[in-house]
Amino acid sequence: MGERAMKIIMLGAPGAGKGTQAKKIAEKYSIPHISTGDIFRANIKENTPLGAKVKGYMDEGLLVPDELVADLVVDRVDKDDCVNGYVLDGFPRTIPQAEALSNALDNKGQSIDFAIDVEVPDGNIVKRMSGRRACIGCGATYHLEFAPPIKEGHCDKCEGELILRDDDKAETVMKRLSVYHEQTMPLIEYYKKAGKLRIVDGTLDIDEVFNAIAEILEA
Ligand code: ADP
Ligand code: AMP
Repeated sequence: MGERAMKIIMLGAPGAGKGTQAKKIAEKYSIPHISTGDIFRANIKENTPLGAKVKGYMDEGLLVPDELVADLVVDRVDKDDCVNGYVLDGFPRTIPQAEALSNALDNKGQSIDFAIDVEVPDGNIVKRMSGRRACIGCGATYHLEFAPPIKEGHCDKCEGELILRDDDKAETVMKRLSVYHEQTMPLIEYYKKAGKLRIVDGTLDIDEVFNAIAEILEA
């Protein structure tokens, strides 16, 4: 896509399809996909000090403290590969995180272009997350029913083993949903007031959701 900057935030409940859509956006518009969850999981896998700090929160379905997330993203979007935009997946998740991002962008004379809310009712979420399988090699995600791999249990891209994330187990999913309602949903109003909010129906098929997003981005 030409010179139009695309600084995009994905909003939505855990399991709404933010990551699935963010990957497709990143591919189509050649911008980086920045997932704080993926960054944390990579740090845990590599036993880094950051990984050690965040693991307990993630396992419990709680948010990692704002101060461990905000600087990380603010530094990341300063990198050269972000000059034409980026798609943030899983950040911001609290109002203070959104303000930290907004202040950092303000200082550069920039702002977010779109906050896309992938709307899925709570009733669909448990099924989405209990069927989600992630590749331990490359992090690609599948769904047993809605987006199955070609070969059962193995990643289409790297042949890695597909696993159920610990935090996708039913008990933790309920906790994550309540955390979403309390701490993250206020962002919908926040971006609405800023004139950035766009809502898509996340219950549609993956490709239909993506078509709706592409229409918004290209309008
Ligand atoms: P999030 O990043 O919001 O937590 P994911 O993108 O990982 O969510 O999607 C959660 C699960 O639901 C995954 O297993 C994914 O394959 C599946 N999924 C994503 N979008 C859809 C959709 N539109 N319809 C059905 N299943 C979907
Ligand atoms: P995700 O992969 O986006 O579902 O994130 C998995 C987990 O990582 C969340 O349940 C949180 O514990 C943590 N996490 C990811 N992004 C953030 C964020 N922006 N703020 C706080 N915690 C986060």
